[in-house]
Amino acid sequence: MQDTTYTDPRESEMASRAYLQQLKATFEQLPNEIPLYLFTAKGDEDVFTHANREVIRAFRELSSKITLREYNLDHELATEWNVTHSPTLLIAPERYSIQWLGAPMGEEARTFLEILILVGLGKSQLSEQSLKMIKRIDSARQIKIFVSPTCPYCPQQAINAVKTAIEMPETVSLEIIDIQSEPELANQYSAQSVPQAFANDILIGQGAQPEEVFILSLEKLEAQTIFIPESDAELIETDLLIVGGGPAGLTAGIYSVRSGLRTAIVERDALGGQVATTPIVENYPGFTSVGGKSLVDIMVSHALQYVQIFQGEAVVDIQTGPPFMVKTNRRQFQTKTILLATGASHRHLNIPGESRLAGRGVSYCSTCDGPLFKGKKVVMVGGGNSAVTEALHLFHMGINVTLTHRRDKLRAQEFLAKQLVDNNIPVLWDTEVKEIRGEERVEEILLLNNKSDETMEFKTDGVFIAIGYTPALELAQKIGLGINADGYIKQDGKHRTTVPGVYSAGDVEGGYKQIVTASGQGAEAAMTIFEDLINPYWLDGQAKVASISDDL
Ligand code: NAP
Repeated sequence: MQDTTYTDPRESEMASRAYLQQLKATFEQLPNEIPLYLFTAKGDEDVFTHANREVIRAFRELSSKITLREYNLDHELATEWNVTHSPTLLIAPERYSIQWLGAPMGEEARTFLEILILVGLGKSQLSEQSLKMIKRIDSARQIKIFVSPTCPYCPQQAINAVKTAIEMPETVSLEIIDIQSEPELANQYSAQSVPQAFANDILIGQGAQPEEVFILSLEKLEAQTIFIPESDAELIETDLLIVGGGPAGLTAGIYSVRSGLRTAIVERDALGGQVATTPIVENYPGFTSVGGKSLVDIMVSHALQYVQIFQGEAVVDIQTGPPFMVKTNRRQFQTKTILLATGASHRHLNIPGESRLAGRGVSYCSTCDGPLFKGKKVVMVGGGNSAVTEALHLFHMGINVTLTHRRDKLRAQEFLAKQLVDNNIPVLWDTEVKEIRGEERVEEILLLNNKSDETMEFKTDGVFIAIGYTPALELAQKIGLGINADGYIKQDGKHRTTVPGVYSAGDVEGGYKQIVTASGQGAEAAMTIFEDLINPYWLDGQAKVASISDDL
């Protein structure tokens, strides 16, 4: 389907020309050559080999520093550099051990561009905190990062690993592995969700990690979830710190800076929140049909014209104010106000086998993990807009998908439900998934028909779960915000929470949970914050906060 947004073609052509000029200038200033070596099996002309040549050709037009040599897998250099798969792309193998198994397509083109720049620069660009930690690693690390071209979380994790391979070339070797090009390797590691990071064959990270958390996991050879920076971390002062880079946070950032507030956004994962993994959006005004990730890219580039975004940074501590002291894994903010736009996280079924087989056939992201199931059989659980949109997405990718829903009626919009019927996608009604079974990966599920009480074993390669979201309340709870009876942040209708100087917007405060409503709430919150900073009610007996009624 086409994106029918109207943009003056002359304007977009000028913008891309300016971007290319900027990239060329960046490469021009890089001090080092960037030699690439592509290894293929004799006569191997598959889609990945072709894609490598195309992508590299496009990048080579940017700079003569990028060179390409091609060899067969039986060449002596393949033995010298330990290359065994076709196609494998090596980046500056004389200096670093960075191999790309597959091709840098789709989202991964971003990773590739960053690798080229870092290699050209000859510097890892690791943060101060990461550099301190990495120096403690004193034995070899062989890293494998499994990625897919449609995964918006993958570049962050792949780049974390690339930086370590550049910083410690004698100690760290890296393979970035495209799960579509290397399904057998992905199977061998039971890596059926992306990104997944292994070091010395130990799983050290599922999903994207902030850089410092990745390095700590690499050091400990065990997945870590939190990193608290040392007290010498950089300090930034803001009027407003926005936590969360989805539609609510990004819109608030635009409005806030335009009002003259010093503003920053911190986001621990990929920007865009749930939208980034929504296959197609058809109800955002101005776009009759647009990929969720494309919409996010447009929003982010708009927001970046105004507001500084710290991506890959997780808030690890907040000391109450105002002013508030907020610590991320990399720096500290002293801020007069905070906007929590932390969104929501996937709801889990909480049944046996679900967490054990997460990433082993159990998935919460069809956009990221769908490609690995092409030609296979999967089940989609849920009856809302997400489950139906994602079931259709999997179906169109050539996956044999069955929807299971616990009732006899979908919650999804009629427009989407009709497409299920039109495409003959089977639906198991009144059916609950009771258990997910399999040794190394998902093999079958146990289903219960809640009308007839009959149980049934159902063979499947994957279970995609889209049963709604629960608000991400960890920080709200840490600050001690009031929570309403529905389990969302309590606010006064103008996005003021029960703690002076702290505001909320988007899915974390409930409501309709649409992209357009989240953006609207972000704009409203930013305008309230602007008014409150001119006239800080917290200096005036906390009247507004006290007026929040208990039943909100
Ligand atoms: P949702 O609308 O809350 O639907 C969740 C679905 O999962 C419901 O069908 C629910 O069943 C089922 N469910 C919940 N808990 C379950 C459990 N423990 N076991 C089995 N099934 C369970 O969630 P969503 O589909 O993720 O959508 C979230 C929000 O995003 C909604 O506001 C939606 O409109 C919006 N969204 C919009 C679009 C779009 O406009 N294209 C796309 C995606 C999402 P019951 O029906 O029985 O409650």
